[in-house]
Amino acid sequence: MTKKFDGGSDHHTMPETLEAARGTYLGQAHFAGTGPENTTCRQCVHWGNKTQAGEWRGFDYADDGMGMMALEPAKCHYPIMNKAARRVPPQAGSCAFYSERFDPPDLVRKRRRKKRNAE
Ligand code: SF4
Repeated sequence: MTKKFDGGSDHHTMPETLEAARGTYLGQAHFAGTGPENTTCRQCVHWGNKTQAGEWRGFDYADDGMGMMALEPAKCHYPIMNKAARRVPPQAGSCAFYSERFDPPDLVRKRRRKKRNAE
């Protein structure tokens, strides 16, 4: 489950900072929205799934209930000490450590049907 930062108070002395934090998901390397304009974690090389051995294993999709498969949240692997080990949704705003991925996964894709044996 993904979770946004929900701390802070409306009486915070730096409302701009608090606003940036509120748009940020636990597990992100830095405040969302501090990366290049109109980019998301889905387009960043640090976002995705790894095996327990630390090898990249691609992306997960789940049935969206409307006949398509939707991209699931994944972890940000940018190395930050004590960063929350939480999965970040693909549409989270990119952060200052964003690095462009040249083959970002599709947000939705068609469901792949299993082929049945004809005979
Ligand atoms: S933009 Fe990249 S480095 Fe920043 S939180 Fe998202 S996945 Fe991590």
